[in-house]
This record gives sequence, structure tokens and C-alpha cells, in this order.
Amino acid sequence: MKYFSTRGGDQELSFEETVLTGLAPDGGLYIPEHIPTLPENWQNDWQGYSFQELSVAVLSLFISPEEITRDELRTLVDKSYSTFRHPDITPLHKLTEKTFVLELFHGPTFAFKDVALQLLGNLFEFFLLRRNARKSAEEKPERLTVVGATSGDTGSAAIYGLRNKANISIYILHPKGRVSPIQEAQMTTVTDPNVHNLAVKGTFDDCQDIVKALFADKTFNAKHRLGAINSINWARILAQTVYYFLAYFHARRQLSSSELQFVVPTGNFGDILAGYYAKRMGLPMGQLVVATNENDILARFWRSGRYEKVDGGDGTGAAAPANGASDGKQAVGGVKETLSPAMDILVSSNFERLLWYLAYETAGANRKEACATVKGWMHKVKADGRVEVPMKVLELARKDFIAERISDAQTLDTIRDYYNSTTPYVADPHTAVGLCAARVVAAHNPSSVTQIVLSTAHPAKFSEAVTQALSSASQFDFDRDILPEEFRGLLKKERRVIDVERPDVELVKAVIEKYSSEDECKVAASRASV
Ligand SMILES: *Cc1c(COP(=O)(O)O)cnc(C)c1O
Repeated sequence: MKYFSTRGGDQELSFEETVLTGLAPDGGLYIPEHIPTLPENWQNDWQGYSFQELSVAVLSLFISPEEITRDELRTLVDKSYSTFRHPDITPLHKLTEKTFVLELFHGPTFAFKDVALQLLGNLFEFFLLRRNARKSAEEKPERLTVVGATSGDTGSAAIYGLRNKANISIYILHPKGRVSPIQEAQMTTVTDPNVHNLAVKGTFDDCQDIVKALFADKTFNAKHRLGAINSINWARILAQTVYYFLAYFHARRQLSSSELQFVVPTGNFGDILAGYYAKRMGLPMGQLVVATNENDILARFWRSGRYEKVDGGDGTGAAAPANGASDGKQAVGGVKETLSPAMDILVSSNFERLLWYLAYETAGANRKEACATVKGWMHKVKADGRVEVPMKVLELARKDFIAERISDAQTLDTIRDYYNSTTPYVADPHTAVGLCAARVVAAHNPSSVTQIVLSTAHPAKFSEAVTQALSSASQFDFDRDILPEEFRGLLKKERRVIDVERPDVELVKAVIEKYSSEDECKVAASRASV
């Protein structure tokens, strides 16, 4: 299986090159040369599979055995999911007769990004070790320097995915004092020598600007071989397709005949895009439901066919980041701060991949033409802050998706409602956006439809929204009812963090220079001692 860029189409990359490159040099995102179909007897053969077995079965359809053998893949997958706390990895929890939640938060940082980042870290390490094993003793080993900015979520999942990995250093910038205490503790209590937390005096946007500047600095980038861990990395999408299959089999055991409808709290469109791939591969499901918060660029697209940064705005929205160094949050105005912060985005970086498929199918299945169309659309978004797609493209998008926008008030109501139901469930605010959208959509569903809402975070991670929603529920006690043991211990643990006094790219460069040579020495020392 080869991969090509949504804006190029000529150059084809191996899976390894695709994963190590992240974003294509032309600004596009990598997609597979074709979407594989499922093997003939998959329904029978796969029905008793564990998450790990399904992962090997699905991933090997996208990775040539010459690149990673099935046995190697099995080892990587087993290692990646050994860090999860639940035997099902992503368990399906029944809420009502017609509603399930697919809990994706049983990984090390209690949010769904762990599912993909645990695997990505092991893939990076596997590729680098293999490349270095082929080198002679005189040649310099290849290393990867991962740099990212975070307001909390992606940073901690990336750190837990890359901690203690050979040949990789990771630098995560966060705005000092502006990250929730739990998320700050999650990041800074990881004391593995290759993990470097930079607390920057400034805002999240300052951190993001620094990361962008580092990626744009060709000399610095080449010297340190900067790597990105953001959600545009193909391996992240691929890893996430697996739980759609697991949910399908687990739901089928409990339901005789029912159409499944997946509802996905959406920001950068990575999680739901994985569902789209599963659907295209042949997993039976109805339309996918895109649930957005008040940052509703996607909900507006499905209403109007316009992909536009600010609702009815003046088109002055600044350009999207070219390198995608962090998860798509923009350094410009227009992003609303909501109770579901991991979905606060201005544009959805992975949406370009869906646009490619829409362009391809409306262009008579011509790859070159589809790439040219997508390139044109994305340039328009960059230049004008908006683009409008032809009606036939919108109609095609509506075949596979429905979109709903959920306000903060609805989010709080939904958390309350599910807590006060006969079988109380505490949903985190992102999951609540999904649960609320599911309800709105269910009003139009035939009775044969069962909904599976993807639950993207543990409620204790977003204590503010949860305590706000349940403030009047006298029997609710945050610490007693939902705070996991792991979080209690976390706040008391030793921390390691590097203070950066000003949001200045030169200061950050100096930190990276210093610690990267130290990290390299450690590697050399461990080699010498072997
Ligand atoms: C990242 C994230 C999302 C959004 O997922 P996308 O793949 O960006 O659409 C939703 N909820 C939580 C808790 C997240 O961390």
C-alpha cells in the first residue's frame, strides 16, 4: 500500500515515509492509494477478536507485510495497548435501550487521543531502530525531535505516547499557569529523560507561534529533524478505525438486528474520519453524526456547502498554519472558548481528507483532478477564509454525514440529564456534546436505529464543566464519585519542567539545543554499555 498527498497525487510514499513525514511538503495530507475492502469472511472470522486482534486485522490491510510483518505488527499493537486500564481497551457501555457510549478514555491520560498516540510512539521507535540497525557504527544514528504546543490535551497524550522511546526527544510547550491543574500535572510528572516540558510565560497562541516558527526554520528543522504528532498524521487516523469495528461486534452481540449510527464529538475531524474509512471499507453503519460545539464550522458546512472560518464574517480570518505543528487551534481571533475545549477549533485539519474523496467521486474518479480541486479549495480557504463547494459535492457529503451544533447550555443540560437518569452516568463535556447531538438526530431516526456515541474523555479531566453542571445535585461528590485514584497521586508527584521566561523562539531553540545533545549523549552511552 502506497500513500499520496491530497494536493499532489504524483509522488507515492511507503507507510513508513508517510508516518515519519506527517504533513506533505505541498501542504496536503497523505491518504492511501485506495481504500481496501474487508476480506470475504470478516463478519465470521473477526467476531470474537479482541481489540488487539482487530487492530492487526484492520491495520494490515493498510500496511504492506514487506514494511511491517504481521508478527511485528502484533508486537507493536500489544505493546501499545498494554498501557490501557480496561481489558476491552475501548469498552461499549449501554446507557439506554437505543444508546450506547463507546468509552475511549481508558488509556494513560484518560482521553481518546491515547488510542492513536500510544501506537504512533511505538511506530516511530520501530522505524528509527530499524533504520539505525542498518547503519554502520561510524554513521550518526537517526533521531526525531518532536515539538508541539498544547493547551493540555494533545500534549499529555503525546508525552505518554513518546516517553522513554529510543532516538526520540519530545518538547511540549504549554502556557505557564494556563493549563488545568490535572493536565499540567499529567504532563510535568513524566520524568523520563527524553521528555521536556516547557512552561512558557505567555498564551497558548504564543506557544503555537513559536512551534510554527521552529518548523519554518529550515536549518533548525533539518538539524534536529522535527517531527509532528498532530492529528493529521495518517497513523493516528488508522489506529482509530479499530474501535468502530470493535463497537460493531460488541453491539451486535447485544442487539438482534439494528442499524448502527455512530455519533462523534468533533474538532479536527480525525476521530470521525476514522469512522468514514471504516464505513468505506464495508463496516455496516448508517450516516455518521458530526457533533460540534459552538465552534461550528463543520455544522455550517453541512448546512450550506460553505467551509468558512467565521460565520457570516468579513473574511479576515487569518491563514491556517502551514505545518500543522499542533492540533489546528488557530492563533487568531474567532475561536470561542467553550466547555469542551478540545473541540475549540477554527478549521478542522482532517476535513481536507474527506474533501478529497468528495472531489474524487464528483470528478469521475480522477485522482489528478481531485488533487487539483482540493488544492484550489484549500488555497481559497487560506486566502479568503472561505470556500463554497458545488451542490453535488455537498449532496454527496450529506449521504454519509449529518451534522449538529451543540451550545454550552445544552452541554450542561445533557450532563445533568444523564446524571439524573435511572442509571446515572457522568459524561465529560465533549461526550455530552455527542450525547446531545444524538438526541437531536434521534428524533428523525427510524425505530430500528441504535446510536453509539463516542466518549472522548473521562469526566474527571474536565472538572469545571462537570461540577458546574452538577452543582445542584446534592448527592454528587466529585472527589468521591469520579476522581480516579491515578489523579490523586498525580498532584503529589515529582515534576520536571523548564521555565521559559518570554515567548521567544530563540529561548526555546536554546533549550532544544541543550537537551537534545544531552539526550544524544545518553543514547551514545547506552550504546557503549551494550
Ligand atoms: C481531540 C479531542 C476531540 C476531537 O477529536 P478530533 O479528532 O479532533 O475531531 C474530542 N474530545 C476530546 C476529549 C479530545 O481530546
